[in-house]
Amino acid sequence: MHKFDQNVEKLAKQIIDYSLWRLRNDPPLDGPMSPDQLSKIVGNTITAKGIGGDKALNLFKEVLAPACISTDNPRYLSFIPSAPTNASTLFDLVVGASSLYGGSWLEGAGAVFAENQALRWLMDLAQFPKNSGGVFVQGGTVGNLSALVAARNRARKINPATKKWVLACSSESHSSIKAAADVMDVEVLKIPLDDQCKLTGFNVSKTIDEFHAIYKDKKVFAVVATAGTTNLGIIDELGEIGIYCNQSNIWFHVDGAYGLAALCAPSVRNQFTGIELADSFIVDPHKWLFAPFDACALIYRDPKLAKNTHLQKAGYLETLEGNEEFNPSDYAIHLTRRARGLPFWFSLAAHGTSAYSQAMETTITTAKQAAELIVSRSDLTLLYQPLLSIVGFKKNGWSLADYKKWSENLLSSQIGFVVPSFHNGEPILRFSIINPLTTLDDIKEILATIS
Ligand SMILES: *Cc1c(COP(=O)(O)O)cnc(C)c1O
Repeated sequence: MHKFDQNVEKLAKQIIDYSLWRLRNDPPLDGPMSPDQLSKIVGNTITAKGIGGDKALNLFKEVLAPACISTDNPRYLSFIPSAPTNASTLFDLVVGASSLYGGSWLEGAGAVFAENQALRWLMDLAQFPKNSGGVFVQGGTVGNLSALVAARNRARKINPATKKWVLACSSESHSSIKAAADVMDVEVLKIPLDDQCKLTGFNVSKTIDEFHAIYKDKKVFAVVATAGTTNLGIIDELGEIGIYCNQSNIWFHVDGAYGLAALCAPSVRNQFTGIELADSFIVDPHKWLFAPFDACALIYRDPKLAKNTHLQKAGYLETLEGNEEFNPSDYAIHLTRRARGLPFWFSLAAHGTSAYSQAMETTITTAKQAAELIVSRSDLTLLYQPLLSIVGFKKNGWSLADYKKWSENLLSSQIGFVVPSFHNGEPILRFSIINPLTTLDDIKEILATIS
């Protein structure tokens, strides 16, 4: 039954050699091809007889991989890039080779134990209580949805008569919050921002209290604050919002998919004061915590509330129930799960937390210096001083078409990957700096192409 022969050994060497080559060299920027181009070169790979591992690997190396932009290239500054440590990437190979089941303690105790230590580090950084807990899910989208479903479940128990549930957030909240509201069929109450694009405690309490006074049959069950908006890295007023939510029995969820990684960066930690008041929060290690895709840490102050919501019941699962063991499946909208927190755990254990703080500070410093360079140029306008590591700016007088043309040229000349974004309805550029290998020279070279 156990079929490991010389052919597998040979393929293993080829795959490990390729992986080593990929780690050893600077990641190529590369770029997409059209489906037609790919069909022409690759053809159909799924056949009755199989094309063989050799050939499939070669197609991947020669054609498919170069048709993907390397998110770990230090000049990939679009969206939110990725910068996994070598340790975490290598351990992802181990997770793949080990067929671990990360859903239950019975099957995955060792893996779950290690994942939970990594989660504990994040909970301690947020000053969460000892009995808090959570789980690594696929991404921030699933993390936000799972937390909000638990929030509504708690609200339903407190106010069983309420018919229409409402989720409060801001216009800068991530698109996944709106998506969660759609899935849950709840209304969204958009709370106005202040002139710094921040959600404030004042606006939250005023808007929600007024809303409740007008609509007696509707109830806000959760407020979502963002700790580091994806577009510009803006952090909402967590402390004031948290106090209001705690007093009003409204679930306080903090979406820190990108920004809460910086809880471990001493220079910016005080901006997150109030996170300790949250009922739940998320942070994606695959964004700014140097782990490979895909991993979101979803944390609950009181994990029992999540378990009451998410535990799946079935005859074949009954043997897992009714004990005090920690089953990660019970804390989000999922059942089977990869032990996807392990690459993050391994790297954190191997390097130590100080290395994380330092790497984080490096990116924050690079972002500050990039902002200074932009301010020094009369043809560019900095939108906000970066609070974290996202730098938003405009080229005076450019239209969307100008931005797009510049961005396409930047990629086709393999100098960098920076796509236009929008702020207040206007096109802008943003540098999203989460890779400690991104240097000021990289930024200079990209800025030099804007003339
Ligand atoms: C990226 C992001 C998300 C979504 O996370 P995914 O891992 O892409 O699903 C949610 N909220 C914020 C603030 C984000 O930056």
